[in-house]
Amino acid sequence: MGTAVAPACSEFLLGVAAKNPAQDEFHQAVCEVVESIWPVLDKRPEYRKHKVIDRIVEPERVIMFRVPWVDDKGEVQVNRGYRIEMNSAIGPYKGGLRFHPSVTLGILKFLAFEQVFKNSLTTLPMGGGKGGSDFDPKGKSDLEVMRFCQSFMSELFRHIGPNTDVPAGDIGVGGREIGFLFGQYKKLRNEFTGILTGKGLNWGGSLIRPEATGYGAVYFAAEMLATRNESLEGKTCLVSGGGNVAQYTTEKILDLGGKVVTLSDSGGYVYDEEGVDREKLAFVMELKNVKRGRIKEYVDKYPKAVFTPIDKGLDYNPLWDNKADCAFPSATQNEINAKDAQNLMNNGVYVVSEGANMPTTPDGVKIYLDNKILYGPGKAANAGGVAVSGLEMSQNSLRLSWTREEVDQRLQGIMKAIHKASYQTAEEYGVPGNYVDGANIAGFIKVADTMIDHGVV
Ligand code: NDP
Repeated sequence: MGTAVAPACSEFLLGVAAKNPAQDEFHQAVCEVVESIWPVLDKRPEYRKHKVIDRIVEPERVIMFRVPWVDDKGEVQVNRGYRIEMNSAIGPYKGGLRFHPSVTLGILKFLAFEQVFKNSLTTLPMGGGKGGSDFDPKGKSDLEVMRFCQSFMSELFRHIGPNTDVPAGDIGVGGREIGFLFGQYKKLRNEFTGILTGKGLNWGGSLIRPEATGYGAVYFAAEMLATRNESLEGKTCLVSGGGNVAQYTTEKILDLGGKVVTLSDSGGYVYDEEGVDREKLAFVMELKNVKRGRIKEYVDKYPKAVFTPIDKGLDYNPLWDNKADCAFPSATQNEINAKDAQNLMNNGVYVVSEGANMPTTPDGVKIYLDNKILYGPGKAANAGGVAVSGLEMSQNSLRLSWTREEVDQRLQGIMKAIHKASYQTAEEYGVPGNYVDGANIAGFIKVADTMIDHGVV
């Protein structure tokens, strides 16, 4: 990212694209990481000798399976399930499950690939994986979701285990889905063990796990601001999404004295000039997590706010075209294109902390870097979620539960460590302030060195 792309690097990337056709998001994620780490290969020739890059872009294992289930009308439905076991060099595969109609092999491979470097950055012993299905939980009854989850786990259970692969939630997979998946695993295996994270508090979950990704993204923004002797106090923030990450991002921004003026879902976004306060946030949590409603209902309750529906004909997202200091994209991949990134710059945004995975397109990222804003890429900024999942695994192994304060302290410590590693690595490699290169290189080196230690496996 920091330097011009070497011809050998372009050739390598063309090879990856040719070998993995129709996986655009995977190519995008590989491209970003490989461009960052290419200069490291010149300094450390052993990585080339051991073909570490060639191996790291190839999943250790990909599992694809049929998920048949019966809907409330008695009709048979068929979805496709996946688990990508990308890299287990530094620990068991770890990464979420996504249930969304847009899920494809390429999307999950991009997420699994990102997860490898993210998990390495957390300082915890976790490899990288990701999985999910093209099943859409939206509009389904609880019983339909349960039957789907049971069918999904009826295949997945053979491939996972507390020391092998430990999935968690992601888009469309929250506490309800994790509960159904856990129940089916327990029934099939006849054992109570920590094979999923994001569990309920009564059955092995960790305090602060639901909050962790959003809180972590805000802690990361605070760390970036601290390098300029600033804080979030009084800052106006744009948040996208209305799910788990967006909700707890909003909560932590409020804790630290900032103001959130936007939230969204796939139907459009709300702009609330007065700010989303705690009462309004509680309304959104009830609306999204319990009633499973749409964000446009926010303006029925708070009529001073304005709802703008998605206009598919636009080549930009108007959410990013509002005056603010900070942006926290927390919905999905590629939700900020170059035009949106330029709109953010024009509106005074100089902090972007990514709660979502890869929410900014490469030409959008280039605009952030050219403008030298404080830009925390997803694999660093949103690593708090998987970090607390790692802490949930530790608590399960110890068979005890840490307090809320203890988990939050550890989360803050991990986000500080990730910030420091990314910041210092960027300086060391001659790209100061470039957290993209810093995070990619720092995450890569630990995994690459371990792969060499383990031999050609
Ligand atoms: P949720 O399902 O809780 O919420 C997702 C939100 O994003 C919803 O508001 C949804 O709207 C919106 N959204 C999803 N897909 C699209 C789309 N294609 N276009 C527009 N809006 C969309 O998911 P999370 O909050 O858990 O995840 C959000 C992001 O954070 C994802 O990128 C995820 O990978 C990332 N992340 C999540 C972690 C976690 O711990 N949960 C950890 C690290 C990263 P609608 O309801 O209308 O679909």
